[in-house]
Amino acid sequence: MQQLTILGATGSIGVNTLDVVARHPDRFSVFALTAHTRLEQLAAQCHQFRPRYVVVTSEKTAQLLTQQVSSETVVLWGSEGLAMVASHDKVDMVMAAIVGAAGLMPTLAAVHAGKKVLLANKEALVMAGGLFMEAVRCSGATLLPIDSEHNAIFQCLPQSFACVGAAEKLSAGAPGNSGSEASNQGTSLPGVRRLLLSGSGGPFRIIPVDELTTVTPDQACAHPNWKMGRKISVDSATMMNKGLELIEACWLFDVGEAQVEIVIHPQSIVHSLVEYVDGSMLAQLGNPDMRVPIAHALAWPERMESGAAMLDLVATGALNFEQPHLQRFPCLGLAREVAKVMGDAPAALNAANEVAVEAFLAGRINFTDIIRVVDSVMQNWSMTEPSHLVMVQEADTRARNRAVESLNRL
Ligand code: NAD
Ligand code: MG
Repeated sequence: MQQLTILGATGSIGVNTLDVVARHPDRFSVFALTAHTRLEQLAAQCHQFRPRYVVVTSEKTAQLLTQQVSSETVVLWGSEGLAMVASHDKVDMVMAAIVGAAGLMPTLAAVHAGKKVLLANKEALVMAGGLFMEAVRCSGATLLPIDSEHNAIFQCLPQSFACVGAAEKLSAGAPGNSGSEASNQGTSLPGVRRLLLSGSGGPFRIIPVDELTTVTPDQACAHPNWKMGRKISVDSATMMNKGLELIEACWLFDVGEAQVEIVIHPQSIVHSLVEYVDGSMLAQLGNPDMRVPIAHALAWPERMESGAAMLDLVATGALNFEQPHLQRFPCLGLAREVAKVMGDAPAALNAANEVAVEAFLAGRINFTDIIRVVDSVMQNWSMTEPSHLVMVQEADTRARNRAVESLNRL
């Protein structure tokens, strides 16, 4: 019986994880659940899964929750509680599904404790890629990608590859430098020439570019293929999500940005591809349902049912692929520039984006202001190489402050 902690249990990934877990009561037991808001939902989850611990973010919420859960569940709060349930001796695996920078420390606690870490929280890896992968290598943690694209790539790589293996090969600094002739000849992964990240193009793939100024948060969150939390939904609409995923892929698979191509695939059936030097391309296909990568990672290296409908190729019909337009999706170009330099630039990109997306969701700025804010922070960013987590956090704070200044100037 595997003991599982879910960080961010009430979110889209958390709920999908519990759905998969409920199908396999013989394999998984829920050790701990954590959440920030939606107390009633969290209490209902505790009632169903009977975790040993539940962790919330404030003392007040903890007091309210204590009245709603049975005495067999201990209610904790704050960052120490999060770190404790992520690293507890009894825990075998941790689903890292908190959204944004808030997920970094608890996810790292799981990594340092050498857990099997199922990484949905891409922002954590984007912020602190080098230090994160070094921690994976030192602790012997097993890192499995939940992001559907990275999970697809992981499935298409040679079986001997584990993401932790990439960290072992990392030389100091940016990823993708360990292969001697990496840039045009291929990657440091054996026989692999390129990785192709697919993305649907989101809800605004074809609307006239000049209409983007007036789109609403609800329109931005109405993703054509996936039902996700609001932050990642907006990121999908700007395609900053794909930019963050480009950086995520560089760290997970130890490749330089030049070896990662982004391709638009409106149907979200081909979740990503690996191109080999002999001209073969391997892809992972499936219906757009996050239970597929979640079940894959939970059961890895085995396989188990996820509850997702089987893909019907004939009913699906045509699969299309197009090049992304950088004018429509300027976040893509910016994220690629950031991936070229790395250092603390991805932490700044992520922080500025979080501030801008929050302001957009709160109705304070237009959709097209998101890139203006992020771009203004990044244009003046002088990159340093973070040798310690404190430096990442300083970059995060500095970028947030600059983003707020930029918002106030709009
Ligand atoms: P969500 O907004 O639906 O859920 C976020 C979860 O994190 C909730 O449980 C919330 O209570 C918790 N949380 C929020 N702020 C917190 C804070 N400050 N401290 C502690 N907990 C906090 O988000 P989601 O869509 O489930 O996404 C979660 C992560 O997974 C994100 O990093 C996202 O990029 C990634 N991801 C999501 C999907 C998807 O299909 N939803 C796909 C790929 C990757
Ligand atoms: Mg994704």
